[in-house]
Amino acid sequence: MNGGATSQTPKVYGWCPGALRPMMSGDGLVVRVRAPLGKFSVAQARGVARLSQDFGNGLLDISARANLQMRGIREDAHEELIEGLRGLGLIDPDPEAEARRNVLLTPFWSAGDDTHSIAMELSTALTASADLALPGKFGFAADCDSAPVLQDTAADIRIERNGEALLLRADGADTGMPVTRESAVPEALALARWFLEQGGAPEGRGRMHRLIARRGPPPAHTAPMTKAGFRAKPGAVPAGTLAALEFGQMPAATLAQLADHGDIRLTPWRALLVEGAAGLPPLPGLILDATDPRLQVVACTGAPGCLQALSTTRDLARDLAPHVPAGTKLHISGCTKGCACPGTAPLTLTATAKDEFSLIRHGTAADLPLKTRLSADALRAAPELLKEGS
Ligand code: SF4
Repeated sequence: MNGGATSQTPKVYGWCPGALRPMMSGDGLVVRVRAPLGKFSVAQARGVARLSQDFGNGLLDISARANLQMRGIREDAHEELIEGLRGLGLIDPDPEAEARRNVLLTPFWSAGDDTHSIAMELSTALTASADLALPGKFGFAADCDSAPVLQDTAADIRIERNGEALLLRADGADTGMPVTRESAVPEALALARWFLEQGGAPEGRGRMHRLIARRGPPPAHTAPMTKAGFRAKPGAVPAGTLAALEFGQMPAATLAQLADHGDIRLTPWRALLVEGAAGLPPLPGLILDATDPRLQVVACTGAPGCLQALSTTRDLARDLAPHVPAGTKLHISGCTKGCACPGTAPLTLTATAKDEFSLIRHGTAADLPLKTRLSADALRAAPELLKEGS
């Protein structure tokens, strides 16, 4: 069956899967691995690839928070998988510590720089802060390279480069508090406690930007931020080579082969950075050309991999990619939840039934459509339907 679910109201779980707390999906368990400092050593990458092939369906996703998701894990193999991951140094002491250690860092860090030091100290502090009952999706970003690159990536508390200085900023605020490398982590933890004290997480759920919209930033957060636009592109970067993944997914064999070229950093842009690599061979799932039209489409897992999906998504995304107008983006979603693109997109196709979609312009997957009941076949036959009425 490729139509998947029949209900049009997606289920909201309010928590993210981890390794110790996996989530059931249409193709088995999803086990999310939070690599320490967003990086796999060569041995870890090869080990994860092998475990994916032994206990799962051999498919790996990168999440929007730079975590690696192992798909299709058999329920009866979960325990053995965890032992394998523990042996690779990829398992936290308990599910709560795993959830708290939600630290994203710019993949362009160098050993010993502000990003690296702050992310290490913050990860250790969060693991130890058993009393800090933050919501499951609450996360931190260490973004202290020469200019911030994570401002468009979800994070509740940000430590980011602001000219010569560092700025601690609550997500949703356009002002923050200047910090130093030494004060950044204690102040970030104080901001997390302020969030809880201010009622940011009633019933254990809530995000910083919602609290800031209600009551503004804390009184000491008065220094203006600098907005920095950034778009990741496959190709050479100072730390190595950036390779995009088609729909953020790759076969486990590709990860193992990439490890032949160096340690691997995970990014929140559906891409991997292979440390020190001057170039990469074409491997299944990789996009190495910055002009590849597939970089203009995002599509969630869809059916049959997601239990809530009303249709397949990625087959249509692949076919429509060459027809997406230059400089714009097409989001194809298997239901109104919009997992692959929680914000707005210039063009969105939201599945309403098997191979049937609504077209939304400049909105989210749940917004009011401009056109309804567009069949996948009609869109393939006349992709200009995407542009009509614009
Ligand atoms: S948006 Fe896609 S992946 Fe998310 S719940 Fe809906 S069908 Fe599943």
